[in-house]
Amino acid sequence: MRPPILFPVFADIRTLPGVGPKIAPLVERAAGPHLVDLLWHLPTGLVDRRFSPLVAEAPAGAIVTLRLTVVAHAKPRTSRLPYKVRCEDSSGPIDLVFFHARGDYLEKQLPVGEMRVVSGRIERYRDDVQMAHPDHIATPDRFDEVASVEPVYGLTAGLSPKVLSKAIRAAVAKAPELPEWADAALVARSGWMSWRAAIERAHAPADEADTKPETPWRRRLAYDELLANQLALALVRLSQKRRKGRAMKGDGRLREKVLGALPFRLTGSQLQALAEILGDMAAPGRMQRLLQGDVGSGKTVVAFLAMLNAVECGKQAALMAPTEILARQHFDTIRPLAELAGIEVAVLTGRDKGKAKAAVIEGLASGRINAVVGTHALFEESVGFDDLGLAVIDEQHRFGVHQRVAFAAKGLSEDGEVDTLVMTATPIPRTLVMCAYGDMDSSKLPEKPPGRKPIKTVAVPLERMDDVIDGIARQIDRGARVYWVCPLVEESEVVDLAAATDRHAALASRLGEGRVHLIHGKLKAAQKDAAMAAFVEGPPGVLVATTVIEVGVNVPSATVIVIEHAERFGLAQLHQLRGRVGRGEAESSCVLLYGQPLGETAKARLSILRETEDGFRIAEEDLRLRGAGEVLGTRQSGLPEFRLADLAVHADLLEIARDDARLAIERDPKLEGPRAAALRTLLYLFERDAAFKLARVG
Ligand code: ADP
Ligand code: MG
Repeated sequence: MRPPILFPVFADIRTLPGVGPKIAPLVERAAGPHLVDLLWHLPTGLVDRRFSPLVAEAPAGAIVTLRLTVVAHAKPRTSRLPYKVRCEDSSGPIDLVFFHARGDYLEKQLPVGEMRVVSGRIERYRDDVQMAHPDHIATPDRFDEVASVEPVYGLTAGLSPKVLSKAIRAAVAKAPELPEWADAALVARSGWMSWRAAIERAHAPADEADTKPETPWRRRLAYDELLANQLALALVRLSQKRRKGRAMKGDGRLREKVLGALPFRLTGSQLQALAEILGDMAAPGRMQRLLQGDVGSGKTVVAFLAMLNAVECGKQAALMAPTEILARQHFDTIRPLAELAGIEVAVLTGRDKGKAKAAVIEGLASGRINAVVGTHALFEESVGFDDLGLAVIDEQHRFGVHQRVAFAAKGLSEDGEVDTLVMTATPIPRTLVMCAYGDMDSSKLPEKPPGRKPIKTVAVPLERMDDVIDGIARQIDRGARVYWVCPLVEESEVVDLAAATDRHAALASRLGEGRVHLIHGKLKAAQKDAAMAAFVEGPPGVLVATTVIEVGVNVPSATVIVIEHAERFGLAQLHQLRGRVGRGEAESSCVLLYGQPLGETAKARLSILRETEDGFRIAEEDLRLRGAGEVLGTRQSGLPEFRLADLAVHADLLEIARDDARLAIERDPKLEGPRAAALRTLLYLFERDAAFKLARVG
C-alpha cells in the first residue's frame, strides 16, 4: 500500500491551478502525469529579469523589466499586421508588438493612461524600440515579483513557459515534508537539506551555478534516486538468494578431461572466474552471477566448464544466446569440447522444426541430453527439462534486469532452483554494472588469452577508399579474409541495404564475383548460412555486411576489418566490430574509414580506439563521451532511466547508495525496523522501478 503521506505527491497534475483539460496533456508530455513529476522537472537554466533600465538606455537583445505608461493602441488594418501598443517612460517611447492579438484582451491588460510593469526582450530598429510579446505584463505593485530571477524549464510544443512555471510553483508549494530516508550521518556530513527543502531550493535558482548537478540540493535529490535504485536491486538480490537453490559440487571428472585435452591453459582470470562460479554453484543459495569480458577473452570456455560441473552432478545445463547465428556459433565451439567430455549436447533455435526439434525436446525432457544451446526457442512451452541445474545467458545487452528476473521467475526456473550465469560481451562501465546488474555478483576476465597479437588500427578518410581497396586486394592475394562493414542509417533499412548492396557490387567488380559475399539482416537464415560458408570455406575474399556481424560472428581466419563511416558508430560498437578479427594466429588489422568533417566526439572515439584494445577502458570512455542512458540504450538494457542522477557527475553517490542500501537490507531484510517507513516511502516515490515490484516489498 502506498504510504498516505505520499498521496499529495501522486496527485494528478490536473488538480493544479491553470492545468485544465487542454493544458494537462502538454504538461504531462513535458514532465509527467503526477505532481511528483513536476517536482522532479528541474530547471535547466534561468532568466534574470532584475535589469530595469530606462527605455532609451535598454540595449538591444537584453531581457529587461520596464515601468511604462500606456499611451495608445494602434489596431492593425489587416489581421496579418501586428497589433501595437505605444508606451513610454521618462526617457522615450517603446512599442509593445503582438501578432494575432485579440484587441479587447489587450485593452483590458494595457489600459491607456495607466502604468504597467512589462518584462521581455528588447528589440531595436533604427531609432524605434520595441518588445514583441512581453513575457510579463503586471500592475506596478507587482514590480518586485516580475523583476526577479526565473527558472527555465524544458517545454514541449504548445506549452508556454509561464503556464508550466506556475504549475511547478504550485506543485512545490504542495510538496509535503517526508521522513528522512537518507543515513543521518551522511546527511550531516554532506550538509544536506531535507528532501522538501532540496526540491524547493532546486526550483529557486538565484544564478546559473544554482542549476548545476554539483549543487548540494541536486546531489541530495540524485542520491535519493540512486538509493531507491540500489534498494530495489538489493531487495531483488535478497529474494533471489533466499530462494532455495541446490548445492552442485561436481567431482571434476568431466572438467579434468576437457582441461587436459585443451591446447591451452586457462588464464589467471579465467581460473579465478571459474572458481567464483563453482563456489556459487556449490553453495545452497541460487547463483546470480555476471561474467564480463571482452570478445575473445575466453568466456565461453569458462561457461562450458561451469556447465560440465552441473552435468557432473547429474543435472542439465542450458546456454541461451540472443540470436540464431550466435547460438549456432556457441554450439560449434562447445560441440568438440562436449565430445571430449563424452556428454550429449544439442542445439535448439527457432529454425529447428519437425523431427529434429521433436528429438531435442524428447532428449531434454528425458534427460538424455545433458546440455543444450539455443535461442528464445528454449522458453517455448513445449520445451521442458528433466532436471535443469544451470542456465547460462549470453546477454549481449539484449536483456535487462527486469527481463532477467522475469525469465527466472517464469521460464527456466519455476522452482527457483536454477543457477544463472549471465555473460556480457561488451565490458560495462562500473557504475552501470551497479545500476543495471546490482542484484548480481560479478566476475571479470580483464586479460586476453596469451599469444594474441595486437590489432593494428588505422583511421583513413573516405576519400582514400580506392587506396584501401587496393590494399585489400593485395591482402587477399596473400590469403586474407576481410570483413567490410557498412553502417546502419537508422532512418531506413532500405537505404542501408542499398549501401551494402552497392558496396558489394563495387567490390565484386574490382575483386571478382566469387570473392565478395554479402550478408545482412533481411536475408533468410539459410541464405545467411550460405554467405557465411562461402566466406569461410571459399577462396580468400570479402564479406560485406551490415552490422549483423556485430553480434558475434566468429571466423578466426578473418584478419582484416574495414568499417565504413566509422564516425557513425558508437565507441563500444566499434570495439565490438573490431573484435571480429584478431582471433587467430595471424596479424590482424582494422581500417576505420571516416567521413569528413569529423566532429569532436567522433575524433575522440577514433583516437581512443587507436590507442587501446582494453574493453573495460573503452567502456569507461564511452560512458564519459556519451552519458549513461545511451551507453546501454536504456530501452533495451533495463537500465533505469534516471531523472535526477547523472552518473557522469554523481558516481560517488552511487557507491554510497549501494553500500547504504545493502547495509540497510542486511540489517532489516523485511523492512520493519525504525528506518523502514522512510525507506518504503522512498521506494514508493520511485515506484516506476519494476524491479521493486518484482521484489514484492510491502
Ligand atoms: P568469448 O566467449 O569471451 O568471446 P571464447 O571463450 O569464445 O571467448 O574464446 C575465444 C577463443 O580463445 C576461442 O578460440 C578459445 O578456444 C580461445 N581461448 C579461450 N581461452 C584461452 C586461453 N586461456 N588460452 C588460449 N586460448 C584461449
Ligand atoms: Mg564466445
